[in-house]
Amino acid sequence: MNEVDLYPYQKEVRFYKVLMHPLRLAILDLLRDGEQCVCHMEAVFGLRQAYISQQLMVLRSAGLVEVRREGLNIYYRVIQPEIYTVIDAMRRMTQTEPVLPAKPLLPCHCPTCEVTQVQL
Ligand SMILES: [Zn+2]
Repeated sequence: MNEVDLYPYQKEVRFYKVLMHPLRLAILDLLRDGEQCVCHMEAVFGLRQAYISQQLMVLRSAGLVEVRREGLNIYYRVIQPEIYTVIDAMRRMTQTEPVLPAKPLLPCHCPTCEVTQVQL
């Protein structure tokens, strides 16, 4: 029996599945302007680190983000920015906006926020 080879679609489906999670979309939004440490994500989302790390792991195994350690801090950054083209197209279709809080929900002591606090 002749069948069309759907394998190329499977490869795409794997990526769409990575996007099928609200927190993973929120993390990708947070990483639009560059790397962030996990402690900053905790403060921004008000969620437990274990839960955030679990979703970061999914993004990482898909090859979308990369991890970097500096002292006690663990930073993530997006290494395939093309993903934002997909997200933005979907956003136009669904007429939705990113819902990141303007500042972290919890007090944040990450290096980026510490610097901002000193400047104030
Ligand atoms: Zn912070």
